Parts: sequence; C-alpha cells; structure tokens
Amino acid sequence: MAETFTGNFTQQEPIPEEAIARAVEVMRSGRLHRYNLAPGELGEVGELEREFAAYVGAKYCLAVASGGYAMGCALRAVGVKPGDTVLSNAFTLAPVPGAIASVGAVPVFVGVTEALTIDLDDLAAKVDRADVLLLSHMRGHICDMDRLMEICREGGVQVIEDCAHTMGGAWRGTPSGRHGVIGCYSTQTYKHLNSGEGGFLVGDDPEIMARATMLTGSYMLFNRHGAAPDPSFFDEARYMTPNVSGRMDHLRAAILRPQLAHLDKQVERWNARYGVLEEGVRGVPGLTVIDRPEEETYVGSSFQFLLLDWAAEKVTEVVRRCGARGVELKWFGAPEPAAFTSRYDSWRYAPSEKMPATDRVLAGIVDLRVPLTFSLEDCAQIARIIRGEVSAVYQS
Ligand SMILES: *Cc1c(COP(=O)(O)O)cnc(C)c1O
Repeated sequence: MAETFTGNFTQQEPIPEEAIARAVEVMRSGRLHRYNLAPGELGEVGELEREFAAYVGAKYCLAVASGGYAMGCALRAVGVKPGDTVLSNAFTLAPVPGAIASVGAVPVFVGVTEALTIDLDDLAAKVDRADVLLLSHMRGHICDMDRLMEICREGGVQVIEDCAHTMGGAWRGTPSGRHGVIGCYSTQTYKHLNSGEGGFLVGDDPEIMARATMLTGSYMLFNRHGAAPDPSFFDEARYMTPNVSGRMDHLRAAILRPQLAHLDKQVERWNARYGVLEEGVRGVPGLTVIDRPEEETYVGSSFQFLLLDWAAEKVTEVVRRCGARGVELKWFGAPEPAAFTSRYDSWRYAPSEKMPATDRVLAGIVDLRVPLTFSLEDCAQIARIIRGEVSAVYQS
C-alpha cells in the first residue's frame, strides 16, 4: 500500500495562551476601539505599532484592518490617482491588483522569472510606464533588491512593497519592506502572524505616513499613536486627506503582540520544514527546485517547485495523484482561478498583454502551504509522496 498523508494543509497552530489572556483583558475593559484609551494609556494597538516598527527598523508603523487595505492605503498615500498606472507583478495574489483597482488605478503587469521573482529586464523595459511599483514578494521569493531599487531610482518610480509572505525575511540583511517608501504586511490567518484579519504599513517618510494615518480614519486623534509622525506633519494632511476607515482594534493587537515576540523562532521552525521538503524533492527528473539566493533571508511558510514545459494534462495528473494521497498541491497554470490561486489573466477587470515567458513559468508552478502544525516527519512524508508521483507521471 502506498503511504497517504493525513495532515491538514489549512490547520494553523492555536493562538498562544498569553495572547488569549490579553484578549480577554481587552474584552473585560470594554475598550476595543484604538482611540478608546484610559488617561496616559497607549493601548495595545499603539504598543504593537511601536514593537513592529522596532522589529523592522522603521521610524513609523500604522496598524490597519488587512493587508489589502494596507496596500490600497499606501497607494493613496503616495499620491496614486484614478486613471494612473501602477507597475505590479503578473505572479501574485488577487489582493494586489485589487488594491490598485480600489484606488481607480490600472495595473501594468511585469513578468516572473524561473526564480519566481519579478523579471527585472521586463521591469526595466516598462519602468517609464508608471510612477509607482507595487512590488509583491510573492510566496516569499525576494528578487535582487539592489538592482530593482536602482532601476526604480533611475526611472523615478516609487516602490511600495507587499510583504504578505516576507514578514521576517530580508535581502542582504535589510528587512523586507524597508527598501521601498512603504512596506505593507498582512496578519491574516494564513500569513506569519495570525489575527484573522489585519495588517501594517511601515515607512520613514513622515508626510506619507501622516497621510496614511489620516486615511485609516484617525479623525483628529493622531496624537494617540505610538509610532506615528510628529503632529506637526499633520498640518496639511488633517484637512486634505479623506477618511477611508480601516483601523486595527485592540483585540487583534492584543493577540498579535505575543506572536510578534516569537516570530523569529517561528521563522526557524518554518525554515526547518522547508529544508526537509527542499531536500526531499531535489534530484527528481523533470522537477525544478527553486534555489534561494545567498543574499535572501526567507521564511519557508510555503514551498514551490516547477514542472517546467510539462503538458498541462501531466501536471493535472500529478496534482490529482498527490491529492489522492493527502497532499494538497496548488497549480498556477490552471486556466480557471481556484481558491486562492489566480493569475494576471484571471483579473479581467484589468488590461493585460500576453506574456509568453511568464506564461511558461506560471504553467509550471506547483505550490503547497507549510503550516507549523506539520512536523518534520510530515514534511519528509509529503516530499516522498511528491517524489513518487512526479517520477511516475514523468515516466508515463
Ligand atoms: C494575503 C496576501 C495579501 C494581503 O491580504 P489580506 O488578506 O488583505 O490581508 C497581499 N498580498 C499577497 C501576495 C497575499 O498573499
């Protein structure tokens, strides 16, 4: 009998007891709104903002309602207007083009390489078509940030980073989210911190962060923040910025603070699992492992490999056979978007040109989640199943 994996690919770890205790305290206080503070109190949200700013080494941090909200807010805060174009990745998830659409702007998609990072040659070719790049570090793969920033500096393009999959990651020691003018993060359940929904913006530019603060719906209470620009930077923003409410509340902040304190430890645990998967599928004929650059500090919360230039029926067969043995794979080559998986040509509200080199890579991307509820033995078993099924289908 062939072995079958019985774990659950969407089962997260429980919220730590310490976090639950703090959440209960917040509920007992009745003060859940971030500006509902006792005299002299900074509150869970303000404290969390301070702690996250310190974690990534940013001057300012703003906690918000979701990662998608953070990106839309960032685009507005840097001045993107309806009808403007915004460069972004062809390989990403739906909230990224969605954030661009939410401000009435239009994405210009940039291709993906076999390293699963943004195609920098394609970016250089398109850099004069927009003033802003919303860069998605999709599935935690970080491109050559030195070259990317050089292309964008020369092209006069401001960079906003989508770090939904790179919280805890870095490029040559600089935390992901700290190369661009704003870094955006998500604390949605499937990311690296879990508050159900939630997110952050970080940055060092006081005027942009003042606008972002006003946008989230801070009324005139921006002096009740822990990591916001000095009130003097709000002189114009307070009158000129619309309120698009999207604040974080104390309840979510309360469960995030203890998780943030343990994030680095969690990153190690993810990477141990990732390492087992990577070694376990290395050397299978027809399967390409994504080698990670030395400059990159990554968080292995998901795992990808390529079945490059395979016939679609054969990839489907691998996904089906692994699924039958309990290993849930997602395929980015499917013509119809499914669950969280979609691609640039699935977002039909946004115009796109055909990108043959990108289509070839997308057609080969196979993806799996690595929840921390999996043990190292689970990961070894998953790798054996993938190995066996990829080999069987490749030879058929
Ligand atoms: C999850 C995710 C986001 C943010 O999503 P929210 O669900 O709005 O928090 C942004 N980008 C990518 C690539 C994501 O996977």
